[in-house]
Amino acid sequence: MNASLPVQAQAQAQAQAQAQAQAQAQAQARAEARAAAHSQAQAIGVDVGGTRLRVARIGGDGRILAREAGPVERARDAFVPTLTEMIGRVMTPEAAAIGIGLPGRVDARRAAVLSAGYLDIAGLPVAETLAARFGLPVAIDNDCGMALVAEMSVGAARGCRDVVMFTIGTGIGGAVASYGDLMRGRSFAGQLGHVTVDTLGEPCACGRRGCVETTSSGTALGRLVAKAGLPTGTTADALLAAAQSGASSARAILARAILEAWATPLRSAIGSMVAVADPEVVLLGGGLGAAAAAALAYVPETSAWYQCPVRAALLGDDAGVIGAALHALGHAPAAHPPATHPSAA
Ligand SMILES: [Zn+2]
Repeated sequence: MNASLPVQAQAQAQAQAQAQAQAQAQAQARAEARAAAHSQAQAIGVDVGGTRLRVARIGGDGRILAREAGPVERARDAFVPTLTEMIGRVMTPEAAAIGIGLPGRVDARRAAVLSAGYLDIAGLPVAETLAARFGLPVAIDNDCGMALVAEMSVGAARGCRDVVMFTIGTGIGGAVASYGDLMRGRSFAGQLGHVTVDTLGEPCACGRRGCVETTSSGTALGRLVAKAGLPTGTTADALLAAAQSGASSARAILARAILEAWATPLRSAIGSMVAVADPEVVLLGGGLGAAAAAALAYVPETSAWYQCPVRAALLGDDAGVIGAALHALGHAPAAHPPATHPSAA
């Protein structure tokens, strides 16, 4: 009797593993069926960027079928009419939904704009107006969240369900996906530019000090360049080229020092987010995402606990329109099979 116990336990474990594998295969099959149905659909994706307004018609497979771009209309009264006109240029009867990514704080569940960074459009009935005009469902959301949806669907985090993304440009934005869904909190979770990296640091627009946006954004890099006495407009790419030249010249040493000062607080913010969210990968997107990923080479990871691969995002300026359209179509990145935690392997 006693001798047979381990055999029974083994059989039970085997049956459990089989059931788990079967459930995973079924989930995968359902996800593929959903993806196949969605791939026939089309949607309009809109990305309201810092300077450019991008509008595109996107296939359910994430492909861009038509696109338009123009300057962002900053006058409050002209914002929706301009948007309507540009959407009209790429609209066809095949489009089943409209998705819009906006900067700032957006309450996606209520389709409400709480604040849109530099744009004076808080409280405007953007979604309602467009839904009435085109007779289609309209989703509005944070632009960084939409970029993350695109990267998880067809970009650098394809197949991942737990992802943290920092979007690095003039400022720093971000988004977190947990178990395939965007983390929203009460409304606007994922403002990763406001992770504190220096409690005695520069004042931030949010009312605190030393947020990572004040140390590791494009604006912050400009400040470091000026402080080092380099010409205004010296780019991250120019600094990386100088630093990577391998030279021991004063210029190469200075470039490495600037990159290290820029990337060290970002490394700290990434570590904090890894501790909070335990992602499979951390993505760095936005205009400076690839440069920031390269600059991190000068700041090795020191935490034994919070190791996580960091990658540059892949889709560049297209991420916003692709993600907004796929999100509007209801493409759930949650459709992927569960991930295995590296430490459990
Ligand atoms: Zn802040």
